[in-house]
Amino acid sequence: MLTYKDIIKENDPNLRKNSKDVVLPLSEEDKTVMNELHEYLLNGYDIVACEQYDIRPGVGIAAPQISVLKKMFCILGFDETGQLHQYGVINPKIISHSEELTYIEAGEGCLSVDRDTQGYVHRPKRITARCYLYDFDTLEVKEATLRLRGYMAIVFQHEHDHLHGKLFVDHLNPEAPFYVPENSTPIRFKMNDEQENTKTNV
Ligand SMILES: [Zn+2]
Repeated sequence: MLTYKDIIKENDPNLRKNSKDVVLPLSEEDKTVMNELHEYLLNGYDIVACEQYDIRPGVGIAAPQISVLKKMFCILGFDETGQLHQYGVINPKIISHSEELTYIEAGEGCLSVDRDTQGYVHRPKRITARCYLYDFDTLEVKEATLRLRGYMAIVFQHEHDHLHGKLFVDHLNPEAPFYVPENSTPIRFKMNDEQENTKTNV
């Protein structure tokens, strides 16, 4: 079982490498990685498990964050309307995105960045991605087109960055950390106000 100490941190060179395509059909080894990433996120929703096993909660985690340099990540979280999103993503390609941007007012957070950061990360508000999706119940893989908007589009892009050696801190503008371009609007959470004031760890 993965705990917070298994997640590599900012200064680890593996976070800066490009990940390789996952070979399909998915090997048993890769299925185990997917299941472990999923279990980590799931444990993050269990207060007892968080304390007992040293889990820092997150809504997304990518394979490179545990030094597996393969194009895989897992998302488990609620969007701004309160709807649950759960994806085991393999070999994703973002094929189109909106010109309109969005950002999280509390700033982005990352399980691999263990320090306070200041500023907004502006990302396309809507994306379309081609990928393979791993089903955590059937353990099967299916080709899919995902259309995501708002918060989930941000989470997906953050994880996608991990597969290409990028961290959210690379997007911060040290000159003007809280600058808001005209075409960018903040995420508004309707169901859960707490989320708005909490950093999203992905
Ligand atoms: Zn991250």
